[in-house]
Amino acid sequence: MAIRHIITEGDEALTKVCRAVENFDNRLAMLLDDLKETMIHADGVGLAAPQVGVLRRVAVVDIGEGLVELVNPEIVFEEGEQEMQEGCLSCPGVYGTTKRPQKIKVIAQNRKGEHIEFEAEGLFAVACCHEIDHLSGILFREHVVRMESKDGIEAL
Ligand code: ZN
Repeated sequence: MAIRHIITEGDEALTKVCRAVENFDNRLAMLLDDLKETMIHADGVGLAAPQVGVLRRVAVVDIGEGLVELVNPEIVFEEGEQEMQEGCLSCPGVYGTTKRPQKIKVIAQNRKGEHIEFEAEGLFAVACCHEIDHLSGILFREHVVRMESKDGIEAL
């Protein structure tokens, strides 16, 4: 495993639409392991492949309830609305209150290519939405309803 460099806003890799993963091989496993290690090192609760310059539909989320690996994730259902304070590891020092769905259903694949699906609520839903947005070149700023100046908000 290795800690990779997290690119920041202004790098055009963060604005690209990522390609789907087709090969569930060692390279994918290594990418997932590196995303996890890099996220932990950066003290984040999620990290998407484009944030380390890899334009593939891969992300990890861990809000403190265990690691979730997302390969080719899609949100297939969303319900309700919530406001949450968010930050992004690719936008250092920028924090804002966003509006996101309260509850979502995600379908994805795991590192072996097996189908997974789950429902997410609260911070877990926000984290999944944030990371899946990264895979379409969308930053959390687009969902911000109010900028926040305080520190200590979870970054993804
Ligand atoms: Zn982010």
